[in-house]
Amino acid sequence: MINVLIWNEFRHEKCQPEVAALYPQGIHSAIGGYLMQDEELIVRLACLDDPEQGLSEEALENTDVLIWWGHMAHGEVTDETASRVCRRINAGMGFIGLHSAHHSKVFRQLCGTSCNLKWRHGDRERLWTVIPSHPIAQGVPEHFELAKEEMYGEPFDIPTPDEVVFIGWFSGGEVFRSGVTYRRGAGKIFYFQPGHEEYPTFKDKNVIRIIRNAVHWAKPAENAAQIECTNPAPLEV
Ligand code: ZN
Repeated sequence: MINVLIWNEFRHEKCQPEVAALYPQGIHSAIGGYLMQDEELIVRLACLDDPEQGLSEEALENTDVLIWWGHMAHGEVTDETASRVCRRINAGMGFIGLHSAHHSKVFRQLCGTSCNLKWRHGDRERLWTVIPSHPIAQGVPEHFELAKEEMYGEPFDIPTPDEVVFIGWFSGGEVFRSGVTYRRGAGKIFYFQPGHEEYPTFKDKNVIRIIRNAVHWAKPAENAAQIECTNPAPLEV
């Protein structure tokens, strides 16, 4: 079984009626509703206004894969919370950053770069699968379209990814590395660009399939642990 924690800042849904109409219980609940249908997943939900910002040491200790959606409240996530999450990722927890998570403290700390990009509302997006054999791409077509998505465009200021699994093309002409992977310490990281709060992206079957595949891919390896600094005696004398 894989313990999945879906974390959402849960603010747009409370202050923008059009977002609440799309995701009445929040983006985290919408994603959770789909993932709960997978019998190998134990799904829990958390948000920014929960005690300890929903990300206590205990909550993280019981999490194999953390899914993150944040946007307007990145600055309210404390440095302490962000560092706690990053430490846990380095010790083996999987991390899936969705859409505007590119500017979260956690993702920026993992990347060590600005993670800046171009953006514009209301484009059509065509996603291309560029590594069809990748576990995250299983069951995903060679390409699929989202009628409306927020354009995120290159250059995207991230370190060179380990893998680019999906590339996005937008009707305004831009392209973007829309699905990328990294390893940090023992943790596996997947960043996925679609998921603007004003569009029904998290109701798209391919998007949900990708998130679900990513959870299975990012689960910790059996011997995942923080690598410690040690001073061993020599094996040969
Ligand atoms: Zn957005």
